[in-house]
Order: sequence, then C-alpha cells, then structure tokens
Amino acid sequence: MNILVTGGAGFIGSSVIRHIINNTDNEVCNIDKLTYAGNLESLVDIDQNARYQFQQLDICNAQALEDVFDHFKPDLVMHLAAESHVDRSIDGPAEFITTNIVGTYTLLEVARQYWQGLRETDKSRFRFHHISTDEVYGDLAETDALFVESTPYAPSSPYSASKASADHLVRAWGRTYGLPIIITNCSNNYGPYHFPEKLIPLVILNALDNSALPIYGKGDQIRDWLFVEDHARALYKVVTEGKVGETYNIGGHNEKQNIEVVSIICQILDRKQPRADGAKYESLIRFVKDRPGHDLRYAIDASKMANELGWTPIETFESGIEKTITWYLENLAWCRRVQDGSYQRKRLGVHHES
Ligand code: NAD
Repeated sequence: MNILVTGGAGFIGSSVIRHIINNTDNEVCNIDKLTYAGNLESLVDIDQNARYQFQQLDICNAQALEDVFDHFKPDLVMHLAAESHVDRSIDGPAEFITTNIVGTYTLLEVARQYWQGLRETDKSRFRFHHISTDEVYGDLAETDALFVESTPYAPSSPYSASKASADHLVRAWGRTYGLPIIITNCSNNYGPYHFPEKLIPLVILNALDNSALPIYGKGDQIRDWLFVEDHARALYKVVTEGKVGETYNIGGHNEKQNIEVVSIICQILDRKQPRADGAKYESLIRFVKDRPGHDLRYAIDASKMANELGWTPIETFESGIEKTITWYLENLAWCRRVQDGSYQRKRLGVHHES
C-alpha cells in the first residue's frame, strides 16, 4: 500500500514512519511544512530507504496537495500535521486556526476529490485517518470516569479547540460525502525525538544542564502517558484494521501527576548520570505560575482498542521512561542541534558548524 503521512517530520509522525518502513512492505510519502517542530534529522535512520519519500509542503496549499495525490496515489492517509503546543496556542492562536482547521479542511477536500475519482476496488480500501488528542474532551475531576469515545467535547485551550474543530470537520466529511474516515484521540505521548519544549524532554535536558526544572502550579495536573512507539503501533493497527466511521481512544493506562513524572526522571538521572557535586536533581525543581485554563486531569479508557483491535501498550511508564532517558543520554547531539537551531539551518542548506 501507499501511505501518505502528513506531519511526518514531527515527534509522533516520525515514529509512525519508522514503524511502517521497518515493519511492513508499504511505501510512505511524508508531507511536512517543516515548521520549528519538523525535524528531518529524526528520520535519518530510514530516509535512504527506497520505500520512503519526502515533500516539503503546507497542508493549506490545495494545488500542491493535489499534485502529491496524483503522483503518489495513496491508499491510506494518516493526518498528523498540526500545531501541537498548548503554550504556543495561548501566545499566538492564529497558526493553530490556520493549520489545524483550514489545513485539515483543505486536506479533506483534496482527499475527497481524489477518492471520488478512484475505481470501486481502490475506493473501498481508501482510508482517511485523522490523528487527534484527548484534550478535545476538556478535563476531568479526580473522581470522574475516564474519557470514552462518546464523551462530549469541551476543549479548554486554543490548541484543543482547533483540534476539536478538525475532528468535527472530519466526521462531517464522513457523514456528508461518505469519505471513509477514522479518528483516534490519544493521551500525552513521550519518548525519543520529542521536541525539548515539552515537559519530559525539557526536564531531562534542563537537569543535565543543571538548570531549573519548572513545574506549573503545584504540579498536581494528571496526564495519562503513552510511549510514542506504542502509539505508532496503535495508529498503524487502526488505519489498516479499524472500522470506517469509528473513533478509537488510545491511552497508556499510566496516570501520573506532573510532579511525580519529574521526580521519577530525577531519580533515574541520579542513578544513570549523578551530578558532579553529589546533589540530587530534585533540588532543581521550581514551581512557576500556572498556565491559564490549565486542565487538571486527562485519562483515557482505551478498552475499545483492546477489545476490537487487540491493541494494548507494551511499555509501562517505568520501562518507557527508562528507555526515553537512555535515548536522550545517547543522543545529546540531536538535542543540542534542536536547542541551538542548527537543525533548521541545515535543511535550508546553510551550515554553521564553526
Ligand atoms: P509535532 O509538533 O511534533 O509535529 C507536527 C508536525 O506537523 C511538524 O513536523 C510540523 O512541521 C508539521 N506541520 C505543522 N504545520 C504544518 C502545515 N501547515 N503543513 C504541513 N505540515 C505541518 O506534533 P506531534 O506531537 O508529533 O503530534 C502529531 C499529531 O498528534 C498532532 O495532530 C497532535 O495534535 C496529535 N497528538 C499529539 C499528542 C502528543 O502528546 N504529542 C497526543 C495526542 C495527539
């Protein structure tokens, strides 16, 4: 099969592409605008594979998308391209509206026209898989039941509202035009190649630099953490075996308060990379003013994925975070090139090695 992946230079998209190239015979076309979050250095282990190709383009550009559909002729579309950082959506929502809503609309229209022109056999196996977040459901009180697929939408941030809008558009294209769509809503991911602005890589890298470890509010926000490679495996299962028109919630069964996550990272680093002065990494923790509208708790009921598709996560939080920290310790060069911006200069053909 030919699989078109949008946002494949991002954190989850690069893991999905690695999974497909390394574990299947399918071909992948990665389309990505290469915003600050897109990093082709996350794909160096597979980018020479004959079954992989890359096109730099914006999903808001309908003409460029049509050209890719005409040439690559996808059987499956996995749509991950998005602006994804909640703090950035609070500081500047415009890009979130443009990419997450208008971009998804543009991709849906191009996919619909392409799909309508296919022969019946190709038409029936085509899938448009939209990758979304559990943040569309808003937040939970500590005693509330978990998010299920029928939980009403109640997004809190510009990011989650833009993702909720995109989900509605995708469902409408399924209902109105019959486009074979599937949606997944997933909890917080972590793992290798995570951009260092997000909590887990930020804490690991700040700790290694002996810098403060900032925690919003009291650090009592609860997130359900999923190792990114478990998510990539789940997404491939959904796009190849999931039922058209369905929504699947994907989660890690790993609810943890942010402060617990930070403490676990500090303890692992104390063991793996003790500080020169013998102090504990936890002494670097600093509590900072909470983010406006900060959701208290997200937690996913992923039993539909287990019961209908036989998917469960392989990693526990303990095993996944150990692997993640080991990866960061072994790949500090990747991190430094992200932190100093040289990953962006390289793709523009500018080299600043001196
Ligand atoms: P990311 O920010 O790491 O990557 C997003 C990618 O999209 C980048 O490579 C970026 O260059 C690309 N992109 C942005 N705007 C584009 C545009 N207009 N045209 C083409 N490409 C564009 O994000 P991620 O963490 O990998 O998340 C991927 C998807 O999964 C997103 O849709 C996100 O909402 C969803 N999701 C993420 C998480 C998480 O914990 N990270 C959890 C659940 C769902």
